[in-house]
Amino acid sequence: MDFNDTPEEAAFRAEARSWLASVARKRTASNSFAISQETGDFDAEFPKQREWQRQKYDAGFGAIYFPQEVGGRGGTSLQNMTFMEEEARFDVPVTAHFMIVNRGCCSLLMRHGTPEQKALIPATLRSDLIWCQLFSEPGAGSDLAGVRTRAERDGDDWVINGQKIWTSNAQYADWGVLIARTDPSVPKHKGLTFFIVDMKSKGIELRPIKQLTGASNFNEVFFNDLRIPDAHRVGEVNAGWKVTVSFLAGERTNIAIKELMPLIGGIVNLARQVQINGRPAIEDGEVRSKIASFYIREAGVRFTVQRMLTALSRGEEPGPEITIGKYTIANLVQEMTAFALDLQHASGAVMTPDAVPFDAIFQSEWFGSVIDRLGGGTDEVLKNVVGERILGLPEDVRVDKTMPFNQIKALKA
Ligand SMILES: Cc1cc2nc3c(=O)[nH]c(=O)nc-3n(C[C@H](O)[C@H](O)[C@H](O)COP(=O)(O)OP(=O)(O)OC[C@H]3O[C@@H](n4cnc5c(N)ncnc54)[C@H](O)[C@@H]3O)c2cc1C
Repeated sequence: MDFNDTPEEAAFRAEARSWLASVARKRTASNSFAISQETGDFDAEFPKQREWQRQKYDAGFGAIYFPQEVGGRGGTSLQNMTFMEEEARFDVPVTAHFMIVNRGCCSLLMRHGTPEQKALIPATLRSDLIWCQLFSEPGAGSDLAGVRTRAERDGDDWVINGQKIWTSNAQYADWGVLIARTDPSVPKHKGLTFFIVDMKSKGIELRPIKQLTGASNFNEVFFNDLRIPDAHRVGEVNAGWKVTVSFLAGERTNIAIKELMPLIGGIVNLARQVQINGRPAIEDGEVRSKIASFYIREAGVRFTVQRMLTALSRGEEPGPEITIGKYTIANLVQEMTAFALDLQHASGAVMTPDAVPFDAIFQSEWFGSVIDRLGGGTDEVLKNVVGERILGLPEDVRVDKTMPFNQIKALKA
């Protein structure tokens, strides 16, 4: 396989590079590989991320692999990767929410939305509309099919009551995607329905969750007799689990798209600067073999994700294989940043930018790296998917799987 750009790819890369150079500054050594979205002042950062997504969209780089009929460029997943490689060289905001949630909602509506729902896609891709994901509840995270938020039919509307938690960026959201229980008398996966929700509606109360960093990226969301028109239902009544699984696969694909080469390059530079036994660490055989293993795993994930993006761009359902990409990338980032801290010896535990190499960016990336091992499905849940749906291993024990939901003792609906 030839990994060099074809003439068409080289032309696209040149176009992307020249546009980026016209609107942004190159990254400096100290911020050359920031990949996480964690920040103490998220209210200040979020509008910058939104504006950057808009700028990219207007220049034809914000929705590269989406078809032109929904406002995308109609390009390829490879072009998307190429753009990300080039973008990683520039000092621009990390637009994680737009890549994961907004794009995830667009991909979902492409596959399952009505024409009216699909009409929301272009403004969403441009980030004129912000979306949030109303899935997790206090008693239903990994066991997502156990959600207790109720949706009851009343004429042309559905009336929603219940509570969600960990809803990222709901405070900025115009729309949300929601799963709610519409029939508690059937087994838990069979009584769910999927909706889109106008977040400015009466009957929605947000309570921000204060994090240790001081930021409040997450919210509790309460629904008190919220009314949703039936036109905002996605898919059939009681067939919401299928839509949810489809959404989660898209979300995991988008989490797994990360440009890691700058981070690997940063580790190589660090290994040149620090010493082991009086010699530059880069000369140590174990250090070199570790860095080589990072390269190899990064390449494996990159090609897996590319296959998934190609499926998404064709409006196809992404398969369970993407769990491998999401699991590997989340663990790889944590392993790489932990390795970078080890290379710094005792300084690895110091967060003061002036006192340690690369302004402590490895330290802050290490702190941020845990996020992707939880959001979009924890490691353990993903391993179950790989075991059961890819390898065909025996299923995890699920005593409540076939029982009517309202007979499950711990979760009386
Ligand atoms: C950064 C971030 C952003 C998020 N944003 C959103 C959002 O916008 N919207 C939203 O709805 N949710 C969001 N979440 C919530 C996220 O989806 C849940 O945290 C996640 O699904 C885990 O659920 P839980 O926290 O209830 O943990 P639990 O489900 O209680 O899990 C606790 C532990 O038990 C393990 N476990 C559970 N079941 C099994 C099993 N069957 N086998 C083996 N181990 C198991 C888990 O792996 C975990 O280690 C976000 C989370 C994070 C970290």
